[in-house]
Amino acid sequence: MSINVGVSACVMGEKVRFDGGHKMNRFVVDELTKHFTFRPVCPENAIGMGTPRPTIRLIDRENGIRLVSNKDRSVDFTDDMLGYTEKVLPSMSDLCGFIVCAKSPTCGMERVKLYIENGNTVPGGTSGLFTRELMKRYPWLPVEEDGRLCDEYLRENFVFRVFALKDLYDSTKELTAGAIVKFHSRYKLVLMAHNQKAYRDLGRLVADIANHDIQSFFERYRNEFMAAITDRANRKNNTCTLQHIQGYFKKYLTKEQKAELAGVIMDYRHGALPILAVITLINHYLQSYPDDYLASQVYLNPYPKELRLRYGL
Ligand code: SF4
Repeated sequence: MSINVGVSACVMGEKVRFDGGHKMNRFVVDELTKHFTFRPVCPENAIGMGTPRPTIRLIDRENGIRLVSNKDRSVDFTDDMLGYTEKVLPSMSDLCGFIVCAKSPTCGMERVKLYIENGNTVPGGTSGLFTRELMKRYPWLPVEEDGRLCDEYLRENFVFRVFALKDLYDSTKELTAGAIVKFHSRYKLVLMAHNQKAYRDLGRLVADIANHDIQSFFERYRNEFMAAITDRANRKNNTCTLQHIQGYFKKYLTKEQKAELAGVIMDYRHGALPILAVITLINHYLQSYPDDYLASQVYLNPYPKELRLRYGL
C-alpha cells in the first residue's frame, strides 16, 4: 500500500534552505518513511531562487499579500510562486497528506509573520504562499507542520487522517453508493469519538445517499468526513465511545470482567491510563467474543501498531 504524502524538502533533510541548511524531522524520516511514500518539494528552489538565497518575507500591500525580498522589497516573488503553484498543484491530487515547514513565508501553515510597510506585523500572522494555495485547492487534505508533529495529540491526529483519507480513496475506487455506505459504517465509532454532531449529521446524509448524484455526494462526504476527524478525539468523547463498545459485550462478560472493563474505562477518563490500555482489553475480549460490526471498526485498529501513536494518549 503506497500512501503518497507531500513534504517540504527541508523537513526530509534536503539542504535547500536559504542558508544551505535543512530542517530534518526525525519522526518523519525515521518512522513515517516506513509507511508513507514522500514527495518532497521546495517551492523556493523550484522557482529558481537557488541555495543559498536572500531571505524573504510576506508583506500586506494594497494589491494583496506579497512575497518579497527582505533586503530589497521591490523584488517581488509572488507572481512566480503563484505561477508555480498553479502548475504543480493539479499533479498532487493523489496525495493523502502534506507536512510543511513551520514559519516559512512559503511553506508555513499558520502564524507565519505578515508584515506591513512600516515593519510592524499583523497579529495572528498568515499562511505561507505555497501552503495557502495548497489548502485552498485541497481543503480536505490533512496538512501539518513539522514542529507541531512533536505534540503527541496533533501527531496522532494527523497520521490518522492520512490513513483515513487513503482508506477512503481505496474503498471508493469503484464509486458506488454501497462503497460509501460500507466505508462510513467502518468509521462510525471514529466519528463518535471525534465529533458527535458530525457523527449524527453524516449518518443522516449517508442514509439519504440514494437521492444524490454519486460524484457530488462523494465530494461532499469526503469534505465533511475529513473536517469531522480533524477535531481531536478527546477524553470525554472517547469515554462515551468506549462505554458504547462495552455494551456489545454485556451478554458475554462475567460480572468481574464487566467491572474490570468499566474500571479501565474510568481510569482512562481520569487520566490514569492511556487509551491503548482500554483498546487492548477490548481487542482481547473481541477475540473471545467475536462481533463482526466491532471487528470492522477502524477505531479499534486505525493504523499500524508500530507507529506507537496511542502510547501517550
Ligand atoms: S520551507 Fe519550503 S521553501 Fe523553504 S527551504 Fe523548506 S521546502 Fe524550501
